[in-house]
Amino acid sequence: MANLGITKYGNAVLRKVAEPVDEIDDEIRKIAGDMLDTLYGSTDGVGIAAPQIGVSKRIIAIDANTSDDSAKPIVIINPEIVEYSGEIKEQEGCLSIPEVKGDVKRFEKVVVEGIDLDGNKVRIEGTDLLARVLQHEIDHINGILFIDHLSRLKMQLLKNQLRKIEQEHKGVES
Ligand SMILES: [Zn+2]
Repeated sequence: MANLGITKYGNAVLRKVAEPVDEIDDEIRKIAGDMLDTLYGSTDGVGIAAPQIGVSKRIIAIDANTSDDSAKPIVIINPEIVEYSGEIKEQEGCLSIPEVKGDVKRFEKVVVEGIDLDGNKVRIEGTDLLARVLQHEIDHINGILFIDHLSRLKMQLLKNQLRKIEQEHKGVES
């Protein structure tokens, strides 16, 4: 397992719709381990999706550091939002788009289903930060970035900053 470094905005893998995982084998377990190592190697990351380590597969990992003592990282394979309610707008950022922040409207509460690394079905209810991170990471495996949710005005303001990151990472293979 290794901290692979985060793929950055401009890298084409971030814009691909990731492939579902058919079977949980050693390769998938290794990818999940690498994702967690990379997440913990980052500053203030709370979640990561496989495309962020250059792997176009439907795997997300979250450690939202919530106050409850069961604060363990969650790895969800093939996650899907099955229920949602409410709406809340808060500031968001992304490990793949350094230093860029913006207000994003998300569901306040979501229920996500998928499978865990043992192949068991999981159902996770998230509110507030956990709900936000789940939606952010599921967006990633659909090739969507948080900046896609920003207002046109905000995007105009961020244009130069984004272009700079994009130019640096375009054509970089994961
Ligand atoms: Zn992100």
